[in-house]
Amino acid sequence: MIIGSCLCQGVKFSIDGKHSEIGRCHCSKCRKVSGTNSNAVLLTAAKNFTWMCGYELLKVYEMPDGWKSTFCSTCGCPLPMIGAKGKLFWVPAGLLDDDPGVSVVQHIFVGSKANWDVISDDAAQFDEEAPNNIGA
Ligand SMILES: [Zn+2]
Ligand SMILES: [Zn+2]
Repeated sequence: MIIGSCLCQGVKFSIDGKHSEIGRCHCSKCRKVSGTNSNAVLLTAAKNFTWMCGYELLKVYEMPDGWKSTFCSTCGCPLPMIGAKGKLFWVPAGLLDDDPGVSVVQHIFVGSKANWDVISDDAAQFDEEAPNNIGA
């Protein structure tokens, strides 16, 4: 089992079971949400994901186009989010307190990355969405 938490520790969750490797999204929205060059995320089935505490602190921001981000109302930390189909959780990899044992395998929306963003690993790169998911 892997434990994750937000900066203030008010929100904690666990992943028990299979999860994907890590993908990084370099789109303009993920840059804002993460405050850096990209958002690092892994996916797990909803049945493997448990909110341990602090779910009441979770706030959702929805843009006019329907794009959403979730965050802790105390510390502002991004939080996991369930996908539109209700089957997969998107988990920001930086929240994990345990080593998930996987690494970054793909970069997406590289076509719109910031000019200052230098990708220096060997992971696959895609201009927009990846043709396949990251193994969830
Ligand atoms: Zn927090
Ligand atoms: Zn993105």
